[in-house]
Amino acid sequence: MTSPDSGPDWAALAEAFTPRRRIFVDGDWRDAVSGETFATVSPRDGRVLAEVARGAAADVDAAADSARRAFEDGRWSRSAPAERKRVLLRLAELIERNGAELALTDALDGGKLVAETSTVDVPGSAAIVQWYAEAIDKLYGEVAPVGPSALATVTREPLGVVGAVIPWNYPLEMAVWKLAPALAAGNSVVLKPAEESPLSALRLAELAVEAGLPDGVLNVVPGLGVEAGQAIGLHPDIDAVAFTGSTEVGKLFQTYAGRSNMKQVWLECGGKSANVVFDDVEDLDAAADLAVFGFLACSGQVCSANARLLVHRSRHDELVALLLDRVAAKVVGDPLAAASTMGPLVSAKQLDRVQGYVESGRREATLAFGGARLHTETGGSYQEPTVFVDVPQSAAVWREEIFGPVLAVAAFDTEEEAVRLANASPYGLAASVWTDDLRRAHRVAGRLDAGTVSVNTVDALDVTVPFGGVKQSGYGRDLSLHALDKFTSLKTTWIQL
Ligand code: NAD
Repeated sequence: MTSPDSGPDWAALAEAFTPRRRIFVDGDWRDAVSGETFATVSPRDGRVLAEVARGAAADVDAAADSARRAFEDGRWSRSAPAERKRVLLRLAELIERNGAELALTDALDGGKLVAETSTVDVPGSAAIVQWYAEAIDKLYGEVAPVGPSALATVTREPLGVVGAVIPWNYPLEMAVWKLAPALAAGNSVVLKPAEESPLSALRLAELAVEAGLPDGVLNVVPGLGVEAGQAIGLHPDIDAVAFTGSTEVGKLFQTYAGRSNMKQVWLECGGKSANVVFDDVEDLDAAADLAVFGFLACSGQVCSANARLLVHRSRHDELVALLLDRVAAKVVGDPLAAASTMGPLVSAKQLDRVQGYVESGRREATLAFGGARLHTETGGSYQEPTVFVDVPQSAAVWREEIFGPVLAVAAFDTEEEAVRLANASPYGLAASVWTDDLRRAHRVAGRLDAGTVSVNTVDALDVTVPFGGVKQSGYGRDLSLHALDKFTSLKTTWIQL
């Protein structure tokens, strides 16, 4: 359904929306062994979108069995890299071809702006699948320099069965960040999407089979974290878990591994990124534009969100004024409406959590903008963008990851102080630096505890560069060729001559 000028008629498509809602194992749909379901609710209006099969331990067992069988018989794991490329390129094409449906799914299920899911999440996901497809038949092994009496090769082998457990903020993209390199490397996968937004992963699995992925190589088990997620973590026959989510649950996965088979655990966890603006910045408008993008993209539900803004005292008032103008211009509303520039939070629970932080912020800092729940009459989970200034380091809104559209601003006097304040966090996912002084940019970037430092921009991200954190933001990297490290093991073969 497309209207001539404005693209798809999203509201009409939403009326006709019929998502997949069962567990996907061995290339086919099934109900949960328990027969139970859980409701996935749209934060757009609080309505139940679908009753989805509630996968738990028995379903994870079935998915892991199917993945293991597929791995062992080599239908995918021992196929030629060029064959894997062909299938994954076709999957990238199918993601694009079914883009409107996938974009609508994440907009309804996760409350993301359809204007963004259709132009960022869906094309970005297709591009990532394509990139790993194209990479996989260009990677060579090594011959070690052991001398003339032996031949020693070092090759990369797939690990086996990979469990992928992902969050709700970018449901399709997070699935693809894990699946694309894991599948390209020849692994089988058991994927558990977040219970808040399980629907696009189910459709993705179906598209993968349509693209030619053999049955059993990709299995998707929707369900609750404490049930299906924990079962993946504790499973004795899953070789590795790639997890994106909160630091708290990331730590649980480490214990699950210790209590079961010592599986490899790769963690992409929380963040509280600092955005540091120095006094020498000429283009303060650009800094203001991107500071707003940095804390409001995806309604602030981004692990690398620039949730702390540190501004040199001499430019503080000027930047805050520019920023508040832009924040005031935001239109919070229906994620399907063309006029909306910010959608709801993912759930009523997340809205309550953010409101808790707004309350503590009111006590501990100065509220400069926002704070309210919006559009309560719709039944949706809408939060006004919120800015606190004069925020002390001791405040919860400064220290803790809120995962909502809340910015904490503080002033600094010296470069030394800026670095100290930025690094005073248990997290180390990303940071941004604004300066027109190249030497300072280089010096400060080197001193910030972060997996990615963006200079004169925010949230620099591309499939070609690794993404991940230090400290309690996790370890291991998504994206780039480095992501393949976590989905392969090195095999040394020594032939005595
Ligand atoms: P979450 O940790 O609650 O859930 C993530 C996943 O873990 C979900 O699939 C969930 O079902 C599962 N899970 C929850 N409890 C579990 C348990 N006890 N055992 C096993 N699995 C369990 O996170 P969320 O609320 O979905 O997402 C928000 C968090 O994710 C934030 O902390 C954010 O920073 C983080 N995140 C990080 C990145 C990154 O790349 N570093 C990206 C996106 C989100």
